[in-house]
Parts: sequence; structure tokens; C-alpha cells
Amino acid sequence: MRNSLYLIGLSFLLFSCGTQKVATKLKDLPQPSAYNTPLPPKPQIKHDILGDYFTINIADPSKNDNTISYGSIVGAEPQGYKITRDYFPALGQNFRQKYIILHYTALDGRKSVNVLSKQAVSAHYLVNDSTDVEIYQLVDENKRAYHAGVSNWRKDTNLNDTSIGIEIVNNGFKEMGGKRIYAPFPDFQIKKVAALVKDIANRYQIPPTNILAHSDIASARKQDPGPQFPWKRLYDEYGIGMWYDEATKQMFLSQIIPETFAIDVNSPAFIIKAQIALKLFGYSLTESGIWDDATKKTIEAFQGHFRPQNFDGIMDMETWAILQALNQKYPNK
Ligand SMILES: [Zn+2]
Repeated sequence: MRNSLYLIGLSFLLFSCGTQKVATKLKDLPQPSAYNTPLPPKPQIKHDILGDYFTINIADPSKNDNTISYGSIVGAEPQGYKITRDYFPALGQNFRQKYIILHYTALDGRKSVNVLSKQAVSAHYLVNDSTDVEIYQLVDENKRAYHAGVSNWRKDTNLNDTSIGIEIVNNGFKEMGGKRIYAPFPDFQIKKVAALVKDIANRYQIPPTNILAHSDIASARKQDPGPQFPWKRLYDEYGIGMWYDEATKQMFLSQIIPETFAIDVNSPAFIIKAQIALKLFGYSLTESGIWDDATKKTIEAFQGHFRPQNFDGIMDMETWAILQALNQKYPNK
């Protein structure tokens, strides 16, 4: 009796240390025998002068598909002691890298390198505008780069903590006749961006909902990479990021009666509905019931990403249909 009470107590202690969920049911607790099973096999580690390396992917995708560990292992070297890495990685872990954020530099190539490597602002990668095969890495992927600033997406804030930032050399926009004219991205540069994003997204299993424009996560302040950035092409040709299904968009469009929409669109009830839909999709927004500046900028960011032909910040029928189609395809759980 005393023994079994001890084991139950031990189980609870071990279990409650390892999880944030409060275990209330005794039957949910791991059985003590689980702690006596054989130890996991030791993965092969290559040792050389520069450090320790896993030579194969030692993750177990059937248990946790997010433990892939390639390349070098960064760890402690406490004086007088030896760190043993033979049982690393533990199954209970995941990557810190949850997002890929795309930017344009609004500078030429030379200035981009100088600013991003010598000043407080930085990015993990810089995609240049030359036809070579080079892409510059400026920050270790395991470290934070300073590219996102004050930022939000769905439940996450301060996306510098959890993202890989990619800056693309591009001149941004010029104001002409009250309109913003954005510089296009050459084909060879888009191919570089696509290959880079695909590689990063695959390694960290970053979902399509988390591959975003800077303007998506900081709509009030930022316009980059702007409406010239070909999100649809990246989705169609490389399977990168989000895009709506045309048929679903048409279905939502067919449900809208233009005459009614024209009246409803400025009612507080509709505006709140639209603001809730934008928030649900991921944008940070206040449900004010008016087309305030923050909401207009959010719509502009949304259009720049998903309806780049017209990014006037006005919730028209097509924008509304696309937003609903996207919310259906990429539900925010
Ligand atoms: Zn940016």
C-alpha cells in the first residue's frame, strides 16, 4: 500500500513537471513501468574540430514530426564537465521558427547589405537582385534577426522571436499622382526567393498560414513586399503560402447581392463582421464598427497579398468573397 502510494505520487510529480495540462484523472497518468523501458538508441554523432554533428535525421516522425536535427549542435561546454548528447534530441520539443516573413529593402543591393549588416535592423537572409546563384545569410537561423518590429499574427506577437526574416532587394514604391507605383521583382529573383522559402518551410514544417508579408503582421506601419510580389505564383508553382480556391471565391461572390452590399457595406453591423473576419484570418484589429484608418490599412495589406490588382483599402465585393474563401480554407483554430 505504501509502495503504491509512493508510485502514484512519483507518477504525478513526473507528469506534472513535464506538461502544462493538469492531470486530474489517475488513469491518464503514465504507468510507472514506462520509466523502466530500455533507453532509446544512441544516434550517430560526428565529432570534428568545429563541433558535433548529427549525420542523419534522427527524428521519429510517427511520434513527433518536428524534431528534425540536421547540422551542428550548439550547446554548453561547462568547465570541468562533459556534456553528453547521446540521447538528444528528446521527442518533447519543437522548433522556435514558426514563421517566414518576406520584406523588400526599398534600397539597392549595395545599400541593402550595408544597412542590414551594419545597423540595428537585420534579416536572416538577403536575396540580392543579381542573376548569380548567391543568397546572403546575415543571421544564424537559431538567432533572432531584427526585421519584424511590433507585429502580430493570430495569437502570436513580436514575431522576431519566432520567425525567419527574408529581405528582398527591391526599390519599393514611388508616389506618382497620388498613387503608389511599386517596382516589379525580376523572374530570377522570385526563383531565388521560392527556393529559399521552400527549403526553410520544409525544414521547420512551417504551415502555409505562417508564410507572410511584413505588411500582414504590421499592417498599420508596413507595405512590403507589396502588391508586385507574386504570392499566387509562389502558391501555384511552388506550393508556398496561402491562396484561395477560385470556385469558393465565386461561390461567396454569387451569394452577394450588389445593391444590398452597396448599402450594407457601411453599416456598423457589416463593418464589425468584416473586422471579425479579418481578425479571424490573422490580422490584428479592433472591432470599432467604423472604417477607421487601421481597418483600411489592414484591408490594403490583405488586398496587396490576395487581390493585388486593386489595393485601395476598400472592402468591395471581391475582397469580401476572397476573405471568406480564405477563412474557410485556412480556419483559425
Ligand atoms: Zn519589412
